[in-house]
Amino acid sequence: MSTEPSAGASAPLSRIVVVGSLNADLTIYCDRLPQPGETVHGDGFAVNPGGKSANQAVAASKLGGQVSLVGAIGDDPNGAMLLESTARAGVDVSRVRRAADAATGVAIISVDAAGENSIIISAGANGSLSPADVKAAGEVFDDAAVVCLCLEVGLDTVAAAAQAGHDAGATVLLNLSPYAEVPQALARLSDVLLVNAHEASLFLGEEAMPGADVDAAEWEPVRKQFAGRGLQRVLVTLGAHGSVVLDSQAAGTQQITRIPPTKVAAVDTTGAGDAFTGAVAARLAAGESLAEAAAFASVAAALAATRKGTQAAYADTAEVQRLRG
Ligand code: ATP
Repeated sequence: MSTEPSAGASAPLSRIVVVGSLNADLTIYCDRLPQPGETVHGDGFAVNPGGKSANQAVAASKLGGQVSLVGAIGDDPNGAMLLESTARAGVDVSRVRRAADAATGVAIISVDAAGENSIIISAGANGSLSPADVKAAGEVFDDAAVVCLCLEVGLDTVAAAAQAGHDAGATVLLNLSPYAEVPQALARLSDVLLVNAHEASLFLGEEAMPGADVDAAEWEPVRKQFAGRGLQRVLVTLGAHGSVVLDSQAAGTQQITRIPPTKVAAVDTTGAGDAFTGAVAARLAAGESLAEAAAFASVAAALAATRKGTQAAYADTAEVQRLRG
């Protein structure tokens, strides 16, 4: 595994601060996911490091980012596993607090033969991460180029981190996952919103997003709705169909960019969204445009989907460059 800076990065790398969750992923593989009340036989079980923020931090670090993680774990073996995994990927974990009175967060994950998943999370120590932890992280925000946030920790903590990033002049990247309604003030502090199609529908109160294979122009009403809510720069991920960049700050036809999927044989899409988010953070921190970052992230996330698990499945820059050709 390489944690060397990217061979292809054109600008000096600045710090990425990821504030949020670390979970132990308890994953069982099965032919198909059970219906409510049903029991199915599994085929293989694994305990792996996970949590959206830990995953995003590892993804960004493997792609050459200089990453600091702010989070909380329990004083238990799962916590030790998570610290070891994130640190091994080159992430600065000095601001991950050990909570004395809570277990490390856990995610129970089922993955079917098509690589689809269902997930239940128990927040554990993640639930204790507070605005005080953000304040204690202090100077780590001073040289942040990107502050990367998700909703696996409390909204007050996310808001405090967004404010700290904004005050430091960083790009605040908010992954609206798992979906929750966010205060307007937090949405407005988010320079880039990253959502999947389902989260985009929930945020806008729309029943559905445009179909996966429509022209870019069909996304224009969606771009306008986000812009009307104060969100100028939005990435909508579409699973195996790729993603779309809605950038109301760009000129004319560049406001909507459809990023085609990278065709791969998907084995496990768990954490593909986190691979995408971490890659976007790394490339924004390296000075790329949103559309350039999304195109790079599309390849990194596709590679992640070709391997089981999350952090260990994430690609480094050389591998992404090889697939891009
Ligand atoms: P998750 O929460 O399961 O990690 P998500 O819903 O947040 O995922 P997706 O839209 O499923 O995010 O995936 C994120 C990105 O990963 C997509 O935009 C795409 O670039 C890539 N991706 C996901 N699945 C595949 C796939 N089967 N083949 C190629 N690329 C994929």
